[in-house]
Amino acid sequence: MHELGITRNIVSIVSRHAKGARVKRVSLEIGKLSAIMPDAIRFCFDVCSRGTELENANLEIIEVAGRKKCRDCQLITETNQVFGACECGSWNTSPVAGEELRVKEMELV
Ligand SMILES: [Zn+2]
Repeated sequence: MHELGITRNIVSIVSRHAKGARVKRVSLEIGKLSAIMPDAIRFCFDVCSRGTELENANLEIIEVAGRKKCRDCQLITETNQVFGACECGSWNTSPVAGEELRVKEMELV
């Protein structure tokens, strides 16, 4: 489960920014193409945040829809797969959204 390592990183980044203050809320953006499971992040967050500034913080996860762009016809479509064919039949596509994982906001007490 690679979410454990990811969550540890998130906790350490947020905790560094909090500079000792209690964190009330953290909001994350997770792309649907990132292969990161929000439920796993939630589970790991409880474990990783224990004893840190983030303990008992409200974790908010915003899922970002995946989008791919076709390099042949320039069409942008929603997708749940990193690789996929365009409606025009071309496989010359690349993701333009949905691969992100970022801390969007944090709220201190
Ligand atoms: Zn196309």
